[in-house]
Amino acid sequence: MTRTALAGFREFAARLADALLPSSCLLCGSPCCGAPLCPGCLADLPPLATRHCPLCLEATTHGERCGACLARPPHFDQVHALYRYAFPLDHLISDLKYHARFALAKHWGRQLAGLTPPPDRIIPLPLHPTRLAERGYNQAQEIARHLARSLERPLDPDSLEKSRATRPQAELSHKERQGNLKGAFACTRDMDGLHLLLVDDVLTTGATLDEAARVLKLHGAARVEVAVVARTPRH
Ligand SMILES: [Zn+2]
Ligand SMILES: [Zn+2]
Repeated sequence: MTRTALAGFREFAARLADALLPSSCLLCGSPCCGAPLCPGCLADLPPLATRHCPLCLEATTHGERCGACLARPPHFDQVHALYRYAFPLDHLISDLKYHARFALAKHWGRQLAGLTPPPDRIIPLPLHPTRLAERGYNQAQEIARHLARSLERPLDPDSLEKSRATRPQAELSHKERQGNLKGAFACTRDMDGLHLLLVDDVLTTGATLDEAARVLKLHGAARVEVAVVARTPRH
């Protein structure tokens, strides 16, 4: 079996298991019907700072704009996130990303729909085709699919492409980061005047989503908001 076929089979098996198996909480194992997490574990997930930058959600003393957004305003207009990226959310994100726990994508997609104003189009942050073939699915697209369904807005998984493989920004030095994202994304359609919602699992440095938003605005997008499950605090 080729690697791509194997990834496809694993994805199919995971979807089937999701649909057929009675669900128990992914964190504590207690039975919970139809949900990936029990109410107790759900209530314990790490919350965002109550006072934060209105643009990027970084914690600030009085809820004012953070230094980074003041010094160099990002190309996206606003970030929406459900949680702070910390234990045990890092494990749950890995469960979706590497172990095809699609029930989490459905749950988070629906929750994000309650936070975001309906856009014209919903765009998942794309994976490079090589990475997609290895993994068999794009976790951002899985979340975006359910978000689009809940908001009753079109999902557009094709217009933004990852044209060049890049290394995770968090692993790189300051100097390496600058060149890493150059030409990473390509947009294949006119976004003239559209309000777009970019979807990903985690916002870490924000640089990747910023670059994607830059490319979408270059193609005419009037507004680009970002929806992520979790936001990594900068400090
Ligand atoms: Zn639980
Ligand atoms: Zn900010």
